Amino acid sequence: MSASPAVEVAGAQQHGTADPALAGRLAAIVGERRVLVRQGELLAYSSDGLPGYVRQPSVAVFPGSRDEVIAVVRELARGNVRFVPRGAGTGLSGGALADGVVLLGLNRLTRIISIDADNALAVVEPGVVNVALSRAVSAHGLHYAPDPSSQAACTIGGNVAENAGGPHCLKYGVTLNHVVALTVVLPNGEVVQLGNAAGESEGYDLVGTFVGSEGCFGIALDVTVRLARIPQAIRTLLADFSSIDAAARAVSAIIASGILPAALEMMDAATIRAVEASIYAAGYPTDAAAVLLVELDGPAAGLDADVADVVRLSREAGARTVRVARDETERAKLWQGRKKAFGAMGRISSHLVVQDAVVPRTKLPAILARIHEISLRHRVTVCNVFHAGDGNLHPNIGYDANDPDESARVHAAMRDIMHACIDAGGTVSGEHGIGIDKLPWMDAIFSAESLGAMCSVRDVFDPERRANPGKVVPVHACREWHMAPAARSAGERT
Ligand SMILES: Cc1cc2nc3c(=O)[nH]c(=O)nc-3n(C[C@H](O)[C@H](O)[C@H](O)COP(=O)(O)OP(=O)(O)OC[C@H]3O[C@@H](n4cnc5c(N)ncnc54)[C@H](O)[C@@H]3O)c2cc1C
Repeated sequence: MSASPAVEVAGAQQHGTADPALAGRLAAIVGERRVLVRQGELLAYSSDGLPGYVRQPSVAVFPGSRDEVIAVVRELARGNVRFVPRGAGTGLSGGALADGVVLLGLNRLTRIISIDADNALAVVEPGVVNVALSRAVSAHGLHYAPDPSSQAACTIGGNVAENAGGPHCLKYGVTLNHVVALTVVLPNGEVVQLGNAAGESEGYDLVGTFVGSEGCFGIALDVTVRLARIPQAIRTLLADFSSIDAAARAVSAIIASGILPAALEMMDAATIRAVEASIYAAGYPTDAAAVLLVELDGPAAGLDADVADVVRLSREAGARTVRVARDETERAKLWQGRKKAFGAMGRISSHLVVQDAVVPRTKLPAILARIHEISLRHRVTVCNVFHAGDGNLHPNIGYDANDPDESARVHAAMRDIMHACIDAGGTVSGEHGIGIDKLPWMDAIFSAESLGAMCSVRDVFDPERRANPGKVVPVHACREWHMAPAARSAGERT
């Protein structure tokens, strides 16, 4: 740990938010350069991947080692100070925003601690960037399967906290299916081990409890992940359709056939146009109403038969053309268009609302028609790019947040879309988490009892609610739950 230089807090003092004594104590742990208190410096940490939300931390502290993280958390515990963990800040639900509290950045903890190729396991620090792990293990014929489209930037710690998904999670499962053990520093400074490298569950599944806890249960200090073999053969297909309905029918037909693609992604016309007008242009047909990007992988034997089936099923559903990527370059280009689609949308508007909802896969045609109707009614352009294989929608709307009329229409459209997804038997997050963005919907999808149970679980990890305060469960739900224990024990329900 570093010595104890005084920290400059003039800019923040001006706004009355930073506690200079606390900043000084944190600087004594991590070094002066790793504690930010000036408004201008903190600005970079005031948003995540959803620029519509801006919350300024009082102090941002960036430990460089596991011991420093623990020391910082213990210092915060001593002062009863609230804090928000942050990885790369690519989250899309406002989860890493610190509203006047301490922001604790994990992005300097980038060590891959060990790789056990024989057992296909790796132990990594939380700030390791997702794609860096796959690169590091590729020489062993392995990769880390969960691949959020943000994988070039997002961290494994952030993936754990959000239980991140990605295009290839249709076949390989989401983050939860790949984490076998965690070392966690609890908000009170205690360090605990959850799970074990054998991946066996002993007693309660606390790894399963922590994964997806959105920074509210403590900080992942290291993560033991399961690695997957790089498939022997991969085929990537692009099918294009003159109607969204036909593309949605093809999705259902492919899944119903028993073939499990590694990925099954859909992009609509607005998304295709945004991608093709950008540097990520992938050669998608700009006159198509929708394209499907289908990837099949596994042993080479038999794969071409599956490819032939997917081509046939797509054509039967109405595909105009289906092409198979000829080589790795073409495949990478097709994927780049998909994975950079959000970036391509960001190019054409100053603000972007990115939504994340799930509907039963069979409801896709109906919900996409409903989204279209809502977009016309509110005069907004919705770009749909999503994990069609598991019904995980991402309706996105670009707009100018400085235009009050347009902003109001965009938010009304989003509200109607979320209601439509709930009405269709779906839910409000497939992979981006609740954060602050989805808080208003929690009462609509969970009963008071279910929200109360979440509050009680949180209390086990963080009874003082200092870690990521105000996220995931609406504050009123926890307050009401804790105010009514007598009524509950009498069998009544609040
Ligand atoms: C262009 C783009 C595409 C995306 N595509 C996908 C996608 O396909 N699938 C998907 O699931 N998501 C996607 N996302 C969302 C985002 O990248 C993921 O949620 C990712 O897991 C966030 O990682 P991060 O390191 O940026 O975390 P942050 O945004 O920094 O933090 C996210 C949450 O994790 C908590 N946290 C961070 N580190 C830790 C830690 N070590 N311990 C405890 N809590 C921690 C924070 O408090 C916060 O609540 C996308 C985002 C963008 C911008």
